[in-house]
Amino acid sequence: MNEKKDFLRAIVEADLKSGKIEEVVTRFPPEPNGYPHIGHAKSIVLNFGIARDYHGRCHLRMDDTNPETEEMRYVEAIKDAIHWLGFDWGEHFYFTSDYFERLYDYAVQLIKMGKAYVDSLSEEEIRQYRGTVTEPGRRSVYAERSVEENLDLFERMRQGEFEEGAHVLRARIDMASPNMKMRDPLLYRIRHTPHYRTGSAWHIYPMYDFAHCLSDYIEGITHSFCTLEFENNREVYDWILETLQVKPPRPHQYEFARLNITYTVMSKRKLLELVKGGYVSGWDDPRMPTIAGYRRRGYTPESIVNFCEMIGVAKANSVVDVAQLEFAIRDDLNPKVPRVMCVLSPLKVTIVNYEGEEELDASYYPPDVPKEGSRKLPFSKEIYIDRDDFCENPPKGYHRLTPDQPVRLKHAYIIACEEVVKDDAGNVVEIKARYFPDSRSGSDTSGIKVKSAIQWVDAKKGKRVEVRLYDRLFKTENPQGVEDLNPDSLRIVQNAVVEPSVIEEKPDERFQFERIGYFYADPVDSTDENPVFNRIVSLKDSWAKKSKKKESPKQAKPRPEPKPRPAQKEERPPLSPDQQRHFDRFTEELGLGAAVADTLARDEALSDFFEKACTFADNPATLANLVANEVARELKNSAPDTLRFGPEAVARLAKMIDEETISTKIAKQVFEAMAKSGENPETIVEAKGLKQISDPDVIGPIIEQIIADNPQNVAKYKAGNQKLLGFFVGQVLKATGGKANPKVVNELVAEKLKR
Ligand code: ATP
Ligand code: MG
Repeated sequence: MNEKKDFLRAIVEADLKSGKIEEVVTRFPPEPNGYPHIGHAKSIVLNFGIARDYHGRCHLRMDDTNPETEEMRYVEAIKDAIHWLGFDWGEHFYFTSDYFERLYDYAVQLIKMGKAYVDSLSEEEIRQYRGTVTEPGRRSVYAERSVEENLDLFERMRQGEFEEGAHVLRARIDMASPNMKMRDPLLYRIRHTPHYRTGSAWHIYPMYDFAHCLSDYIEGITHSFCTLEFENNREVYDWILETLQVKPPRPHQYEFARLNITYTVMSKRKLLELVKGGYVSGWDDPRMPTIAGYRRRGYTPESIVNFCEMIGVAKANSVVDVAQLEFAIRDDLNPKVPRVMCVLSPLKVTIVNYEGEEELDASYYPPDVPKEGSRKLPFSKEIYIDRDDFCENPPKGYHRLTPDQPVRLKHAYIIACEEVVKDDAGNVVEIKARYFPDSRSGSDTSGIKVKSAIQWVDAKKGKRVEVRLYDRLFKTENPQGVEDLNPDSLRIVQNAVVEPSVIEEKPDERFQFERIGYFYADPVDSTDENPVFNRIVSLKDSWAKKSKKKESPKQAKPRPEPKPRPAQKEERPPLSPDQQRHFDRFTEELGLGAAVADTLARDEALSDFFEKACTFADNPATLANLVANEVARELKNSAPDTLRFGPEAVARLAKMIDEETISTKIAKQVFEAMAKSGENPETIVEAKGLKQISDPDVIGPIIEQIIADNPQNVAKYKAGNQKLLGFFVGQVLKATGGKANPKVVNELVAEKLKR
């Protein structure tokens, strides 16, 4: 168990001690709409771990209330993942869909109490009526329906009499509540898609807010742990159980921070996109952050569980450095796995003064690994070394084989280069070398000094293998989607060579290939005839070097109190609960990026302005950028009530960008004019003639002129200097005073330069 108790364990312990509960009962409630990912692992380790540590139980419940996305194969994948991590639900395996009848009865009970009603507003109207964070909502006229009418309609909804979206069932709570979730939340909606378990028996499906608390109650859950986004749902959770006056004991909801990891996307929706789009080979592609992916790649369950314990459970959202996960797997494998030799890019070495063959004894484990075991390494006149381990014109500090510098073959002899054999094109194809008979590892009396030892494999007895070198799937720290994929996330090496013991003896499932990394035979594609090895992780963190802030792999060790890294570059104080609410709404409901949502959420005047503007806008993203940049600057210099422009005008400006009437760049200019004169954006654009030019017939001749004026750059571009494309585009934009549509310019310039 954790040495340091997290706050959830502290709560459970207190409840056991005070006698509030006799036994702790938790649950892991996934929706079977995708393979579980490493974020789910955190929740699994937490829920099953607490049940184990306090001798309670943890239920596995499929939260299957959405017929459109759920499938049985996902149920199986979830069960597999949990077992693989080392946890078990015993006989406590449940489906929310098994409670549909009981949930329906509870809903009828609420209707009879006057606490729920059938609403017939459209989805759009429901959203409008709900109000905003700063303005109260209003109740629908349908809320006045009688109990009888509600009961009748609800029954008919169930039977499938109405179209999807025609009606919903809502709780009657408070349309003016400061907590938006309490503004008459939806309890049921109509769906005609058949459900993967209940088929066409139902035409209505309960919403999360209604199903979750009652499922917890039905199963006798004591502690219902969920992620922070559900903080505001807790009030609904309690309201439903309270209003229905269910017999105690009642479950309680507690929130913890969800796991986010750098260079990783963590949402089943986005992972499904990768699978569907063919960007990966499937849910278990070894680059996927799914438990199945890590498993196939070669991660051990211990390393994942250790990682989850290492990062701990906190109350504030944060982003964990992926280096910590990579550390966890290295840390687990380092004291366990055999060291063997593999050559990724074979270069033949003929040892001219060696005849015959021999077998060298070599331990599988280095001295600091307390494990026993060794193998025989065949050695003969022809061996392979890695191309990178020989250099004809070495840079300073090169420690391996050169025409003048001998090197040790690990576990074997020292060799020196005699001759470099090249093909007609000048490529090195073979090294002829001499070995020193008295330099054998363990009984070296040669006195020759070498600067390093390299791996090698006997040419005849070595085994050809395919090696898959995996790297991070995304190239950016905070990836949004496929546009951020790392093009080098998989490099396949077809003709690597490993020493024979790896295939013939199989001393373990996982290996360290000396100097390269940790490897695992791919459980799907590898066979004895055609072995395929996945790189689990490299030996060192190669990304730490690339980033400006250097962190040596040693420092990546978990500190006694792990300090997860905040998402922002600069350290910022945590969000207040109010700011967090805004942030969650911006990111989850409106789909804004974290950075812009953070800027807006931290400033009350800004988020207020944005919310108001949103009611006039269709695309919150464009608007958010305008507010977070332009409006923010104005607000810094003047009080909100002295501004000469209002939310609606800014929303209209955003709309002009979205409709491509003006470019983002011109929008800034228009905004400045708005701030000064208070005129509306359309007037300014009209008066100043700022409308974006997208017409190819207008832009074309300008481009042609610029091409004619710059013959040298055209020649350079045609000779292969692609960077000059930017030069031409820039010239065109300049010539049109920034009014040309950059997209159109880009396309036209590329096209015209091709001629
Ligand atoms: P996603 O957004 O990735 O689809 P989800 O929350 O919709 O995830 P569920 O299947 O509903 O997925 O989640 C099952 C359980 O796992 C929930 O209790 C949820 O809180 C938890 N969980 C999901 N993602 C994370 C995460 N990133 N960190 C911690 N717990 C998570
Ligand atoms: Mg979900």
